[in-house]
Amino acid sequence: MGSEAPIQILLVSYPAQGHINPLLRLAKCLAAKGSSVIFITTEYAGKNMRTVNNITDKSTTPIGDGSLTFRFFHDGLPDDDSIRNSLSGYSEQLELVGKQFVSQMIKNHADSNTPISCVINNPFLPWVCDVAYDNNIPSVLLWIQSVAVFVAYYNYFHKLVPFPTDSEPYIDVQLNSSFTLKYNEIPDFLHPFSKYPFLGTLILEQFKNLSKVFCVLVDTYEELEHDFIDYVSEKSIKIRPIGPLFNNPKIKDVSYIRGDFVKRDDCKIVDWLNTKAEGCVVYISFGTIVYLSQEQVDEIAYGLLESQVSFLWVLKPPSKESGRKAHVLPEGFLEEAGERGKVVKWCPQEEVLSNPSVGCFMTHCGWNSSMETLTLGVPVLTFPAWGDQVTNAKFLVDVFGVGTRLGYSQIEDKLVTRDEVKTGLLEAMTGGKAEQLKKKAIKLKKAAEAAVAGGGSSDRNLDEFMEDIKKRGTVNISVEFH
Ligand code: UDP
Repeated sequence: MGSEAPIQILLVSYPAQGHINPLLRLAKCLAAKGSSVIFITTEYAGKNMRTVNNITDKSTTPIGDGSLTFRFFHDGLPDDDSIRNSLSGYSEQLELVGKQFVSQMIKNHADSNTPISCVINNPFLPWVCDVAYDNNIPSVLLWIQSVAVFVAYYNYFHKLVPFPTDSEPYIDVQLNSSFTLKYNEIPDFLHPFSKYPFLGTLILEQFKNLSKVFCVLVDTYEELEHDFIDYVSEKSIKIRPIGPLFNNPKIKDVSYIRGDFVKRDDCKIVDWLNTKAEGCVVYISFGTIVYLSQEQVDEIAYGLLESQVSFLWVLKPPSKESGRKAHVLPEGFLEEAGERGKVVKWCPQEEVLSNPSVGCFMTHCGWNSSMETLTLGVPVLTFPAWGDQVTNAKFLVDVFGVGTRLGYSQIEDKLVTRDEVKTGLLEAMTGGKAEQLKKKAIKLKKAAEAAVAGGGSSDRNLDEFMEDIKKRGTVNISVEFH
């Protein structure tokens, strides 16, 4: 960067783990490339992030040629306010207070002669683009799902193809000229049977505001999704795949800067994994939001015992606000599993997936988990619940070829039996099919590593993105697209 003043970038995150992780990884990458990055989310999330990860509000950490500063704003609600459980009510509140906070920060920076050059947000906060637009600052979206899912929402929003309706709920959906999804493979917030249609509406708000962003960054890589990336580019949207963000070599040294909400279990998970033979452990996690029924937990537990496979299972406790009962494992389960299995509340997932003992990931197929497993070469057993997870499951199994199907989406409402769990585990971890999956997973792992290595497709995209911001300065660029 020489004597040039670093460019200032504001990143604003929705306060959920699956949103914070990829945006924080991007923050570190941009800092490593020389920017002063300010990462903003709510104090409610910040309180946990500070406790678990030794992060401090307002203090600046140097990274590469740049730096990272956290800023947390109060969402204006008491700690135990149940409105946080209602995404629609909470989103309105966040917009109300968040808009003021972000606007004020932009103003303060302008007043102190360190103007903000770019504002980046992740989905669920479409109003961030409005704030940037009103202040004449270039704005960018970090899309945190796959490009295929982006295409589904784009096609739906612009009514480019028919989607299932109340009168025709079982129709297939065309994504591009050569790829079709069945009714139960589309992001199910767009399906009339969805229990959470509000989430679809909220994500579509971002598409309403797409003309205000000059670029869509995506945590994916070209080699994985080139057809869909081409499709989006043909719509005159500047899309830049820059993933896998978590595995960018430039941020390896700062892997200790994390945004975890939950402290990892202090039971020497990695030491335990190190005692296991290569590829013999199934890692099981359903992400931070999906909460299985007690009946389903029982079936998984018995399936694990019957398969005799070693396992590391993240069984997270219910959140306080949810009022749900904690899961109970079948009597004698832990004793019978003995040294073969471990059940924890939270684990360092990237470290776990990088451990050679892990042969398979039973996953809910959130996009972060999907990218992490693809990048680390671990085959999957898919167990999606809702939203993009069902589409990701389809791609992991039928397109990327790294998985076996196990669970059903919530709209199908089917229990996966212990026999299915046992059969799925054995198929994904032993024998010819398992070898095939592993081979494919290794191929995609290598492609992911090449994408973020110096000169790789994602690395180049990130460099070009930085150049874009420098060129644009504070010129209003919103009219260039659409
Ligand atoms: N995660 C983790 N430890 C756990 C469970 C989850 O570090 O025990 C992380 C995981 O690595 C991923 C994120 O939490 O980065 C979950 O995001 P994802 O998109 O997979 O699912 P969501 O929680 O948003 O449904």
